[in-house]
Amino acid sequence: MVDGSLSTVEAYLSAILSEISPLPPVGLALADAEGCVLAEDVTAAVSLPSFDNSSMDGYAVLAADVAGASRAAPVTLRVTGEIAAGDIGAYRLVPGTAIKIMTGAQLPAEADAVVPVEWTDDGIATVEIYQPAETGNAVRYVGGDAVAGETLLVAGGRMRPMQIAVAASAGRDTVSVRPRPRVVVLSTGNELTEPGTPLVPGRIWDSNSYMIAACAREAGAVAVWRAAVPDEPAGVLPALEEQLSHADLLITTGGVSMGGEHDVVKAALRELGSVTFRKVAMQPGMPQGFGVLGPDRVPIFTLPGNPVSAYVSFQLFVRPALAALQGTSDLSLPSVQASLTAPVRSPSGRRSYLRGVLDGSKVAPLSGQGSHQIAALGRANALIIVPEWETQLPSGDTVDVLVLP
Ligand code: AMP
Ligand code: MG
Repeated sequence: MVDGSLSTVEAYLSAILSEISPLPPVGLALADAEGCVLAEDVTAAVSLPSFDNSSMDGYAVLAADVAGASRAAPVTLRVTGEIAAGDIGAYRLVPGTAIKIMTGAQLPAEADAVVPVEWTDDGIATVEIYQPAETGNAVRYVGGDAVAGETLLVAGGRMRPMQIAVAASAGRDTVSVRPRPRVVVLSTGNELTEPGTPLVPGRIWDSNSYMIAACAREAGAVAVWRAAVPDEPAGVLPALEEQLSHADLLITTGGVSMGGEHDVVKAALRELGSVTFRKVAMQPGMPQGFGVLGPDRVPIFTLPGNPVSAYVSFQLFVRPALAALQGTSDLSLPSVQASLTAPVRSPSGRRSYLRGVLDGSKVAPLSGQGSHQIAALGRANALIIVPEWETQLPSGDTVDVLVLP
């Protein structure tokens, strides 16, 4: 049951996502593309491997020549040469002989098997072979991994280390990717003091700027923050406008509560008309604002100031928006079911996201569920979801849990 004046989490998120389109692709050097989302398919320029080669150190032979080999009656072959990995010489095996070969080296013409060195006396001029090798033994054939033209990576996938390796193996030194969104974080509040500087009574150290920038980076963005803006409505808009030219997304924290004159973000942005402030049926994080700023319609989130509210709001709303800017949806938090190790409470009509510790199939709600209680947030690895229509759940109940990144 959601009060008609509140948006559901889903409705609010879909309103946000309807405003966001992927950033235009850019070509990046492969080394810089790590962590970015591909904007093109990557195909194999050549087959992988591109030549038949040995998967072991040993001797290239004709399988027929070693068919009868055993410990008791070894087959002795003359060794006519040695091929190392990277050797581009054109070798040809003469039947009845062997060529020493290293892992990754080209299989000589006419050879059809490799006898691993472990099955031999490791001879130099001649080699004694103690075990037969079947045709194809220890041979990696052309195209055994992928054939030329095959699609190896699909647009929309993220370039994790494995995909970087695939692109490099396909000979690519650049790839077309969605750039990392540039995020600017701006906290507001007269009470904010920079960590590392002394605190006086009545002030707190600014944690949101660091936290939200870190959240954004974790979600694939390049994030910077600006020194906290004091609670003066006249100062907020210029501070935001200054960032517009180098931001793909803006995030403010604080100053959007339910109506005090110190709610400077709300006061400064409301009159623009392009940012909407809503109450979302959730706890923490009920007061939310989202819209666009400037001629380029840069998306802006105005997150609540309480650090836990800001954190939860980021994960629920900003994270999917950053995914959308990157042309993917791969950033959704994993959702699992677990049983509560203690009872929980939740306000009627609002969905709670309680901080908890997930351990296998059990989840322990943390004590300290206030939206200012950052110490408890620091112990959490999961958010326990209590639906809108529940006001309490007993220990042992099964709940949905979001796993935190
Ligand atoms: P506000 O939304 O501005 O009314 O702030 C709500 C609460 O969050 C207040 O207790 C603020 O002191 C606190 N808060 C606001 N911004 C930050 C910040 N950047 N870091 C830590 N706490 C903050
Ligand atoms: Mg404030």
